[in-house]
Amino acid sequence: MLRPLRLVTATLALLSASLALTRAATAAELPTPRSHFGFTIGDDYHLATYTQTEAYFKTLTAASDRLRLVDIGKTEEGRTQWMVVCTSPANLAKLDHYRSISQRLARAEGLSETEARALAAEGRAVVWIDGGLHATETLGAHQLIETLWNFTSRTDAETLRILDQCIILFTHANPDGQELVSSWYLRRPEPAKRIVDALPRLYQKYIGHDNNRDFFMNNMSESTNMSRQLYLEWLPQIVYNHHQTAPAGAVVAGPPYRDPFNYVYDPILVTGLDSVGSAMNTRLNVEGKPGYTQRSGSVFSTWWNGGLRTTTYFHNMLGLLTETIGSPTPMEVPLVPSRQLPTSATPFPVTPQKWHYAQSIAYSLSLNYAVLDYAARQRDYLLFNTWRMGKNSIDRGSRDTWTPYPSRIDAIKAAHLRDNPAPARAAESSEETSRFVSPNDRRIPSKYYHEVMKKPELRDPRGYLVSADQPDFPTAVKFINALVKSGVAIHRATADFTVAGKEYPAGSYVVKTAQAFRPHVLDMFEPQEHPNDFAYEGAAPTKPYDSAGWTLAFEMGVKFDRILDAFDGPFTPLPYGELQSPPATTLPAATAGWLVSRSANNAFTLVNRLLAAGIAISTSAATGDFFIPASARAALEKSADLGVTARSADRTPIDAKTITPARIALWDRYGGSMPSGWTRWLLEQYGFAHTVVYPANLDAGKLRENYDVIIFPSGAIPRPNAPITDAGTEAFTVKEPSAEEMPAEYRDRLGKFTPDKTVPALRAFLEAGGTVVTVGTSANLAYHLRLPIRNALTELGKDGRERPLPGEKYYIPGSILRVSFDPTAPATRGMPAEADIYFDASLVFKLAPDAVAKGLRPLAWFPNAKPLRSGWAWGQHYLRDGIAAFEAPFDNGGKLLVFAPEITFRAQTHGTFKLLFNALYQ
Ligand SMILES: [Zn+2]
Repeated sequence: MLRPLRLVTATLALLSASLALTRAATAAELPTPRSHFGFTIGDDYHLATYTQTEAYFKTLTAASDRLRLVDIGKTEEGRTQWMVVCTSPANLAKLDHYRSISQRLARAEGLSETEARALAAEGRAVVWIDGGLHATETLGAHQLIETLWNFTSRTDAETLRILDQCIILFTHANPDGQELVSSWYLRRPEPAKRIVDALPRLYQKYIGHDNNRDFFMNNMSESTNMSRQLYLEWLPQIVYNHHQTAPAGAVVAGPPYRDPFNYVYDPILVTGLDSVGSAMNTRLNVEGKPGYTQRSGSVFSTWWNGGLRTTTYFHNMLGLLTETIGSPTPMEVPLVPSRQLPTSATPFPVTPQKWHYAQSIAYSLSLNYAVLDYAARQRDYLLFNTWRMGKNSIDRGSRDTWTPYPSRIDAIKAAHLRDNPAPARAAESSEETSRFVSPNDRRIPSKYYHEVMKKPELRDPRGYLVSADQPDFPTAVKFINALVKSGVAIHRATADFTVAGKEYPAGSYVVKTAQAFRPHVLDMFEPQEHPNDFAYEGAAPTKPYDSAGWTLAFEMGVKFDRILDAFDGPFTPLPYGELQSPPATTLPAATAGWLVSRSANNAFTLVNRLLAAGIAISTSAATGDFFIPASARAALEKSADLGVTARSADRTPIDAKTITPARIALWDRYGGSMPSGWTRWLLEQYGFAHTVVYPANLDAGKLRENYDVIIFPSGAIPRPNAPITDAGTEAFTVKEPSAEEMPAEYRDRLGKFTPDKTVPALRAFLEAGGTVVTVGTSANLAYHLRLPIRNALTELGKDGRERPLPGEKYYIPGSILRVSFDPTAPATRGMPAEADIYFDASLVFKLAPDAVAKGLRPLAWFPNAKPLRSGWAWGQHYLRDGIAAFEAPFDNGGKLLVFAPEITFRAQTHGTFKLLFNALYQ
């Protein structure tokens, strides 16, 4: 219901006046942080635990009329994750109403511009402010406490105006992490000896710092909890995600960010970031707080999807990230001469000085106020622009639309060059030689735009069809659920139907692009086309901040059809946020038993459940199919939820061999490896029992007595010539404290992979019949074992010596590539002959002449010169015929399985999980 704007304003003014008095009276009874925690937030050498913080949230909420405490779900360690909603008491009384306005504007469904303007005038700006995501960045959780306290207690005009105009969602992003890090810091009685780093384990149960890499997949509880608030419940206009630390010589890195930004965004999003960034930067300048750096001043871009901040862009939300310096232990701002000269990136440089935690808290508070003041002043504008972006998306998805990609711009240039072989000289004119026109600005006739860009086949899809008839539909349903958790509108077919001449069964899913979150939909189905990012011709590539390409449908191996024309059918919309299950399967009659193909990943969950129930399972050597005896009917029926199809078999396959669960060891290290944590989570999800082992366990030898399979996730095994202290290519390695100050429970985790101790132990394990699986960079083990393979990505230098290809010629950051598989190998059972893999500067091999004689068997390779599917692959032709995965035999049936691509990447790459799973049975 809409009310005249003037009346609302008048009512609010009255409310504000009367409430200001009440607040003044009650503020004295509010528990201050000092009274609750025993110190002032920002005091040197002091940190709060989550237990204390949670108690403060509760006490403060009970005492205040501005707060509502919302339980948004459990963490992976079982704590309650809280969001504190903060606004004026008048707004608090109508919270559901304002949430509904925010939702309606963001989704923009069926709203006219007039209605949108009225709703925008009536609504409240919804601003998300979080803290604590990366727990060792302790500023995050502490600025959250301090900001909450300020907005609960202050009665100045600005605070009251913000509370009247905005609804603030103060969200704790990682409760488990704060508890771990603060306790770790405080365990030393002497303040000067306290440290936040060198933690014994990850500050999120499974994935540590990668908890900011999970926001389109939502594998973890915390991401799922927060995505629900962001994309299903509140749909805020601004999302402010706090981090630490700034680049050396700066205090804060913040918005706006460097290029490239993603081509699927609405331009209002990009300029919206400029506006809020300007408000933040300016406020610090006005308050005399130097050291804010933006754009080229830091490495953060707006290209990638998957971070707490960045996934918001694909939902038309202004996502902010700041990286601010600070430590409870006083520190120094160093002198970095290149940052001392004011530039548009850093207009107000900070000078070298001693720096206290309280200063970082004060900066964070200023920045939060800047964002909220902006939101309060621009409230209806922000709300209306949200609708405008959503409406633009719906319109783009309802008509023929072409998204500009770098390859299309290149195609325009190429078409012109084809018609004008020597344009550089011939086209020179007074206009083009002007000093205001760079060679990049050269004009070419407009017809090339229309000819090249507007080809009908280059239109963006109107929608995507995910057929229920595909080899691994249960995994396709998991893909749909990732979209559901991200607030995407989805339809389900209630009957069989035909679109573009193809038949689809009932139960298929339909994702139309005529929806507000169209950028996210395109991003999950379409290739990302990262620009060729070089500072100048011949320069080394500018690295993307994270992945260059991640198309989730490709990573998960989901089959889908892109529909370029308007289409319809017997489709029913799913309620927002309703998670889907694969259709329960019915078991056909069987005399001997059933065969289950490995094509569905859930087949492994099924088999693991049956094995755990003591049921004898065998597998066909020829096909890899699992054979389940008829006596297991009841157990099989209990697992109908997995959606795995079982075919009846009238006899046991003649080549069937009984399988048993392998005794699995999973490598990890002190501090916790993120790839290992992701793998641990994955094994738990699919029901593979396993033991986590540390370097000392491996070095102790006699591994074959205890294990059948040892898994080395990416980052476990360094390059052969690297210093042994280099734990590999994993970005976040951990210092180890000395053994004597190590709590006893963590002492056995100390130690590192070494060529002289670990490699012989692994060789002995292999030669005693064990299986070793390496993933990603741990393919280095093949070099340590001196197998007959070589780096495929080399060239001869001017000195005639072989060297790795330089960055100007070859560079492939995190991207999706297509490889061929040997489908007859037991290790690749269930894989199609060609599939997409996640490649991240991965190792690529060629065989040495004696490799085949020694039984080395390629499992996956690059069959052609254009394997790129999504991302950025500069010089991809060098990959041709390169080997991505292979198997090497050892005595007594031992084998090494090397998968150089990231086959378990962030537990997103469902399309290649079975390469690991196949190795996990005896
Ligand atoms: Zn961080």
